[in-house]
Amino acid sequence: MVFGRHLNKYYLKYAWMLVLGIASLILVDFFQLLTPRIYNLVVNALTYGTVNIDGAEVPFTMDILLTKICAPMLIIIFVMLAGRFLWRVCFFGASIRVVTDMRSEMFDHCKDLSQQFYNVNKVGDLMSLFTNDLDTIEDCFGSGILMAADALCLGAMAVVKMVRMNPLLTLFSMLPMVFLFAISTVVGKSMRKKWDRRQAQFSKISDFSQESFSGIAVIKAFVREYLELAAFDRLNKDNENANVDFVKTSTLLRVFVTLFEESVIGVILGYGGYLVYVGTFNAGELIEFIGYFTSIVWPILAIAELVDMSSRGKASLGRISKLLDTPQDVVDAEGVEAPETIHGKIEFKDLTWRYPGANHDNLHNVSFKIEAGENIGIIGKTGSGKTTVCDLILRTYNVPDGTVFVDDIDINKIPIRTVREFAAYVPQDNFLFSDTIAENIAFASDSGDMALIENAARIAGVDDDINGFPLKYETVLGERGVTVSGGQKQRISIARAVMKDASILIMDDSVSAVDTDTERRILGELRELRKGKTTILIAHRVSTIEQMDKILYMDRGRVLGFGTHEELMETCPEFRKTVELQRLEDKTEQADSVHASAEQGGGENA
Ligand code: ADP
Repeated sequence: MVFGRHLNKYYLKYAWMLVLGIASLILVDFFQLLTPRIYNLVVNALTYGTVNIDGAEVPFTMDILLTKICAPMLIIIFVMLAGRFLWRVCFFGASIRVVTDMRSEMFDHCKDLSQQFYNVNKVGDLMSLFTNDLDTIEDCFGSGILMAADALCLGAMAVVKMVRMNPLLTLFSMLPMVFLFAISTVVGKSMRKKWDRRQAQFSKISDFSQESFSGIAVIKAFVREYLELAAFDRLNKDNENANVDFVKTSTLLRVFVTLFEESVIGVILGYGGYLVYVGTFNAGELIEFIGYFTSIVWPILAIAELVDMSSRGKASLGRISKLLDTPQDVVDAEGVEAPETIHGKIEFKDLTWRYPGANHDNLHNVSFKIEAGENIGIIGKTGSGKTTVCDLILRTYNVPDGTVFVDDIDINKIPIRTVREFAAYVPQDNFLFSDTIAENIAFASDSGDMALIENAARIAGVDDDINGFPLKYETVLGERGVTVSGGQKQRISIARAVMKDASILIMDDSVSAVDTDTERRILGELRELRKGKTTILIAHRVSTIEQMDKILYMDRGRVLGFGTHEELMETCPEFRKTVELQRLEDKTEQADSVHASAEQGGGENA
């Protein structure tokens, strides 16, 4: 059994099931403790030919066999069967429901955690919370309550019966229990630490596996399979050691429990045998006493198991609580008001900003104004802050008041959800879900209309590719969309954003994997489609964004120029230099390819 802030409310929520379970458990325990009395009758009947019924010694007859032994035994068996079924349904049913609720609560909490949380927490660690740790809580809740209740009810009732029969013999048989408790407490503490280590090793393994499978292409390309295998073996070995270490301690505890059980039976047989010898007990009574004692062996085992289970449960609940207590740091400020619509005007006013936990500013005095409906290209070297600017427009991180405005309203005064609802985003990694292409394209839109999906695919220039697949739009993409090429993935991501038809469209380096002709066609289609709506396109090549209404030129977190291509050519020397450099590169590439084909032609002629 385990308690904690995030779990206690479920004890209340499912109290009715627990109460019903405990009631049937008490009933079962009560009936179970009637059997030693029947053993007593049977043994005495066989030994002395008489049985003690309501204090009177009477001869053992067929009538007594049927009414005092067989009939009660049948009733006991029936009640125990029904009761056991009921408490199993109640305890295990409640634990499954609790874990289902907790899983939903965790997922709900996770979905609201900021991007920063996912930047610093590994997926493998999170996954082990949702699997291993929740399984442990399920065990603790169901089996834990059962063990605690059973240990208490069965243990107490059996001890009362034993004391009534012979207090001194009961005392002798209970003494080793004190040692057992002492040992369980000490060992339990050490087991909790070991369980923590075991979980940490499991997290490492699941994280490593997940990363290896995601990055399998890179591993193969760099022929790192054997090194990865060696690293995995090391982790696997560490995991094995942590498990063996845990199992050793828990086995030690079990050995002590068995030792306790055997030694107590030894005491009962020794002292009980003496009592039979001096005539205080008869044979049936000794058997009855042993019957009660064996009934409490399970509760005693349960206590030891409970100590072990609670240690694991506490550790798991601790980790889950840490997740549930992680503050949702990117949240709406008080008094935010959702505008009816967002037209797409965006303004940055002298924003200096750094990523949470970073030790230097990533953006310096960034200012620019995008009018609603404008097409904007953002260009600059890698790491110059282009993605950061787009992330801040989407409110992926917090920004200071008075620095970022949407439709002239401070972005902090608009609900985050509203900002994102009016925006569509094509991220750099073009993540696709393991679902059909149609579902992927319709992901952000309320409509599953095939005509709209096909139109979005046409605008993104991926319709021909999709129609070339045997299942066309019903093609199911592999995990992270690996069954399609990088360029196809990129265009499906564009189609997904196009389908949303949002006031603001942000495309982060979204045409880098397509050829120049397709790029031109996609951009032309987008220009037509998005007339009157804001479009922001991050690109590496000036030629991609040359035709845009304005270009934002960034360098090391600063805006060095903002204006039309012509304006920047005149006013921004760094931009001019980039353009000239790229033109020179293009010319060199063209000259190289002409040279190469001439050489190839010459070679063929010769
Ligand atoms: P660009 O899109 O122009 O290539 P980014 O906007 O991605 O550049 O990055 C700008 C700067 O911010 C870089 O120095 C980068 O290392 C840093 N950066 C990006 N993401 C994070 C992050 N999650 N945490 C800390 N620093 C980051």
